[in-house]
Amino acid sequence: MQSNILFESGGAPVASRVASDEPVFGGSAPRRRTHAVTVRWQGHTVTIGGGAPVRVQSMTNTDTADPIGTAIQIKELAQAGSELVRITVNTPEAAAAVPAIREQLDRMGVNVPLVGDFHYNGHLLLRDYPDCAQALSKYRINPGNVGQGAKRGTQFAQMIEAAIRHDKPVRIGVNWGSLDQDLLARMMDENAQRATPWDAQSVMYEALIQSAIGSAERAVELGLGRDRIVLSCKVSGVQDLIAVYQALSLRCGFALHLGLTEAGMGSKGIVASSAALSVLLQQGIGDTIRVSLTPEPGASRTGEVVVAQEILQTMGLRSFTPMVIACPGCGRTTSTVFQELASRIQDYLRAQMPVWRKQYPGVETMNVAVMGCIVNGPGESKHANIGISLPGTGENPAAPVFIDGVKTTTLRGARIAEEFQDIVNDYVQRTYGTTAASGVRSTVPSPDYH
Ligand code: SF4
Repeated sequence: MQSNILFESGGAPVASRVASDEPVFGGSAPRRRTHAVTVRWQGHTVTIGGGAPVRVQSMTNTDTADPIGTAIQIKELAQAGSELVRITVNTPEAAAAVPAIREQLDRMGVNVPLVGDFHYNGHLLLRDYPDCAQALSKYRINPGNVGQGAKRGTQFAQMIEAAIRHDKPVRIGVNWGSLDQDLLARMMDENAQRATPWDAQSVMYEALIQSAIGSAERAVELGLGRDRIVLSCKVSGVQDLIAVYQALSLRCGFALHLGLTEAGMGSKGIVASSAALSVLLQQGIGDTIRVSLTPEPGASRTGEVVVAQEILQTMGLRSFTPMVIACPGCGRTTSTVFQELASRIQDYLRAQMPVWRKQYPGVETMNVAVMGCIVNGPGESKHANIGISLPGTGENPAAPVFIDGVKTTTLRGARIAEEFQDIVNDYVQRTYGTTAASGVRSTVPSPDYH
C-alpha cells in the first residue's frame, strides 16, 4: 500500500489517504458558469462566456486615426488567431476613422470584430460619431476614467445608453492604475472605522471588485442585459490578479476577461501572464484572455496572440496549432541539428495554419516530436502523431520516424529536414483532409463562429 495525497480537479488537495487502488485525477476544474455574451459583426458572431471556448483577444498599438495602418495590424492579429481585436478610440479623428477601418477589413476579408477602447471622452465620441458606435462590435468602458465627481455617473450612463441604442455588449474594465479614487477614498475611510481594519492591499482588492460589480449593476439598472456585460479587474501583480479574480468569480455571474494590465517585456511578461492566467483557468475562471506583452522594438504585435494561444493549448483547454515536442538537448548531442529541425517544423506548422485550419479540420490537435537521441527519442516519438528521433553522439547516423506509434521509415543524410517535412505534409493530408476515411479529430469545441 502506498500513501498518496489526492487532488480534486483544479489542484486542491482533498484528502491524504492510503489509495493504491484509486486513480489519480487530473484536469482543470469545470468552467465557471457565466452569462453568454454574443459579439456580432457583419453577419458573424462570437460568444464569450456561457461555456464557449476561452477566447483570445489582443489590442493594436497603431494610431487609430490612421485607418490603413490600423487595418493592416488588425489583419495580422486576426490571422495570428486573435478572435477579437481592440482599438483605442481616443480622439474625434480616431472615432471618425473607425468606419473606414471596418470597411477596409471587410474589403480584405478579415473576419474579426472590433472592440472600441474608451476613456475620458467616450460619452462624447459615441454620441457625436454614431457610425463609429455602429461599426464597433463591443465597447470597453473603464469606470475609473469616465469623468470626475458628479459627472462620473452621468457620463457612464451616457455610454451605457449608447451601447443599448446600438445593441452592443460592453466590457466594464477596471484597472488598478485608474481605480475610481472617490470610491477608494470612501472605502479607506470606512475601513478606518472597522474594529479591526483590513490591510491596505485588501481594501484595494475590495475597491477594484466593488467598482467592477457596482458599475455592472448600474449598467443593468440602466437597461443593459447581464448577457451584454463582460467584466475585468486588471492589476499587474500575479498574486494580486489571482486574489481579485477568485473573489470576483464568487460574487458575480458576469463573463470575465482575464489579463495582467502590464505584463512586461520578453520572458518576464510571458512568465507572469502564464503563471497568473494558468492558475485562474485551472480553477475554471476566465472566459476570454489577453496577454498584454510589451513587444521588443521592431517585433511583431502578434506575439501576444501566440502566447495566449499557447497558454490555452498547453493547458489542454483549446487547440490552435499543431504542437512540437522537442527535448532540451544535453551532452549526448554534439550538434544543433535537432534544435534547428524543431524550430523549422514549429515555424512551418504555424505558417500553414491559416490555410490548414479550413482545409484540414482537427489538424490543430496534432503533436509532432523532434528528439535529440535514443534515450527518450523513440519513446516520446511513439506518443506523438509523428515523431523523429535524431542520432545523438556516437549513434548510428540514422533518424527513425514514427507515425501513430509505429516506426515507418528511417531518414539519413543531408535532406532529413526536407524529407521529414514531406512526411508531415503527407500525414496531414491523409489524416485531416476532408476525404480522409478516418483520422484524429479535435475533442476541443470548435470556435462558434458563424
Ligand atoms: S532525448 Fe537524448 S539528447 Fe534529448 S535531452 Fe534526452 S538524453 Fe539528451
